[in-house]
Amino acid sequence: MTASVLENLEKIEQTILETCQKEKRNREDIQIIAVTKYVSINRAKEAIGAGVTQLGENRDEGLLQKYDIIGNEATWHFIGTLQTRKVKNIIDKVDYIHSLDRLSLAKEIDKRAKHRIKCFIQVNVAEEESKHGLSVEEVLPFVEAVKDFSNIEIVGLMTMAPHTDNEQVLRNCFRTLKQLQVHVQELSLSYAPCTELSMGMSNDYAIAIEEGATFIRLGTTLVGSEC
Ligand SMILES: *Cc1c(COP(=O)(O)O)cnc(C)c1O
Repeated sequence: MTASVLENLEKIEQTILETCQKEKRNREDIQIIAVTKYVSINRAKEAIGAGVTQLGENRDEGLLQKYDIIGNEATWHFIGTLQTRKVKNIIDKVDYIHSLDRLSLAKEIDKRAKHRIKCFIQVNVAEEESKHGLSVEEVLPFVEAVKDFSNIEIVGLMTMAPHTDNEQVLRNCFRTLKQLQVHVQELSLSYAPCTELSMGMSNDYAIAIEEGATFIRLGTTLVGSEC
């Protein structure tokens, strides 16, 4: 039997609270995004009912389907690879884009957006072939280069850690992203406050919180991975 979102959330909340206590962080500084890409609209609604009103989708079709029904009851996060030609489909629906990783995409978002869009720069910290994102060295020049796009706000950095149980590998990944965030903040650019860190998924969110995550993206452990 599938556990309810509320049951899952209670366990997750406990882990978050314990981690916050240990790290002397405020619970309010960490936001949960329910990643609903694997699950039905009803399950997404269940998450909202349980109090998780921020939803993440990684494909434009999935986002549009759910947005059609749920609309403004949720805050929408686009967390997947975004093809330039798909920007126009989602731009009026999303509140955050977590996958900004190239100037051509920044240019298209800037052109299509009717207001400033909150973007995370996706960083491929571990430089895995299979993953998108800028390398660590590319991030600061990229932030500088985005200055001409007045509809883009760099609210933070996002990463997906390697798929591993090796705690040290995960921790190093998140720590590197945190250090990079500090470097972006030191640029003191009004369009790049970079106050947020989108990192941590079902298997590694506690470590991500220890290392400074402000948004955790939870699919399997919160809403499950099938309809
Ligand atoms: C699918 C996905 C998640 C959620 O993954 P889980 O391991 O199921 O929590 C988080 N972030 C991104 C970018 C994803 O594509």
